[in-house]
Amino acid sequence: MLLNRRTSILSSLLLFGKFGQAHGEPADLVAVTVSFSILGDLVKVVGGKRVRMRLLAGPNQDAHTFEPRVVDAKALLSSRLLVSNGLDFEPWVGRLVQSSGFKARHLLAATGIKTRTMADEDGKQTTDPHAWQNPLNVTRYVRNIADALSEIDPAARADYQARAQAYSVELTALDAWAKGQFATIAPAQRKAIISHDALAYLGEHYGIQFSAPVGISTEAQPNARQMRKLIRQVKRENIRAVFIENMSNQQLIRQLAQETGVEPGPPLFTDALSEPDGPAPDYLSMMRHNIGALASAMRHKGGAIN
Ligand SMILES: [Zn+2]
Repeated sequence: MLLNRRTSILSSLLLFGKFGQAHGEPADLVAVTVSFSILGDLVKVVGGKRVRMRLLAGPNQDAHTFEPRVVDAKALLSSRLLVSNGLDFEPWVGRLVQSSGFKARHLLAATGIKTRTMADEDGKQTTDPHAWQNPLNVTRYVRNIADALSEIDPAARADYQARAQAYSVELTALDAWAKGQFATIAPAQRKAIISHDALAYLGEHYGIQFSAPVGISTEAQPNARQMRKLIRQVKRENIRAVFIENMSNQQLIRQLAQETGVEPGPPLFTDALSEPDGPAPDYLSMMRHNIGALASAMRHKGGAIN
């Protein structure tokens, strides 16, 4: 059931616990609500032990189509900071803020990033929200998070800034490693198919051309004409890198795999992390997993396609 139909009974619900403290935690922890799991990891990295973080869309959940519940609105109301990506990645956040009455700080983490636009299914130019797929953009994400936390909790400013700085060094190292992974792959071979168009920032940064049967939001309906075009492209260009994603419709890629005889690679984690025991429990391991899988599939081009 949608949140706005349930908010009228919000005040009468006594079942939901406060955002409140777990036993043994200091009272002055900063309560932060975060829209989706990848951003949640970045908030944990920067916030360290001073932050108590609550996720809305969790691991393997699709943040494009997430539907907040009353318990989410209640928790948000006791938070001092809400962090979402912005760029219309989470179209439900505005509704949640409004219906919960949340008035504290709301950080749009992608603020200040040079965005890219792409045509949607109807040919209309739309801003691509998946900016975290370029690790150098994430330097800006963590800086924005550090600044917002510093405003709310100025006593720990130096800690937040130092952790964001240290993480930026890891992001730069990740970028260098990724460049090395793709360096040996000829530009003509740097092509991949994925369930929805989530990797264009990665593609732009590392010179990989991604195609997808669904546009930049998983809310879009699959398009039969686009699907036929992709199947022809995979055959014609002998593309071996075909991937499903952890949180989106896998049917289209399975159909494409069947019709082209290409075995899909391991699931890529694009808009959500894996569970803690999976291959992508945090941003850095997610990127290493995705980049490793892409590079390996593109490298092993070959095998005739009927
Ligand atoms: Zn997406």
